Amino acid sequence: MTTPLADATAPACVICHRTLWVEEQHRYACRPCTLRISGDLAAIPNLYAQLPTVLAPGSGNGGPAVSGSRTAPLPLRLEPLSLSARGGVVTVLQTWLADWHEALAYRHPRWQGGLQEQCEQVVARLQLLLPWAAEEHPAMKEFADEVRDLRGACERQITGEPRARRIHVTCPCGRTLAITVDTLGRECGCGQRYARGELFDLPLADRRQVAA
Ligand SMILES: [Zn+2]
Ligand SMILES: [Zn+2]
Repeated sequence: MTTPLADATAPACVICHRTLWVEEQHRYACRPCTLRISGDLAAIPNLYAQLPTVLAPGSGNGGPAVSGSRTAPLPLRLEPLSLSARGGVVTVLQTWLADWHEALAYRHPRWQGGLQEQCEQVVARLQLLLPWAAEEHPAMKEFADEVRDLRGACERQITGEPRARRIHVTCPCGRTLAITVDTLGRECGCGQRYARGELFDLPLADRRQVAA
């Protein structure tokens, strides 16, 4: 008997890199990762609805910008604006849904209503098709990363918390891997796969290695 992690060629979850159980081996994403994606998706409409509240400069600590200043301040904060405007959160999710529809040979999805309604619609449709995608869509990792990034970006705008700090660890092959507390798993360039706990057991890279 080989232990699951000993065999680097065994089918693994594309997101957390855990070796898949026999009954999961037809899947790209394992069940816990699929649940996590579903949770990230579910959080987005409510976060999206709050973005307009942080659009004003200095929002959260005072009223609108002072008038009469020679150098006019930016009328709106750009980061929440780029997330909430067309091209931001809703467009990214709609692009994924259109991609999934194409893979399923469905008609191109239709969008109705304003951006908040479209946000809710696209999240509901993605949730509905998520079980299919976790089994059949080869770009599951990219989808999971993007949904997690969108959720994190919205949360940071609303709460004002900084981005999770990066640390660098060293694989026995000598390569350096950048990870954060949010990293679920990683595959090194040498082919070695690490689940989350294993990544944090690797030695920290020193500064010279990181710069190289
Ligand atoms: Zn997984
Ligand atoms: Zn390596």
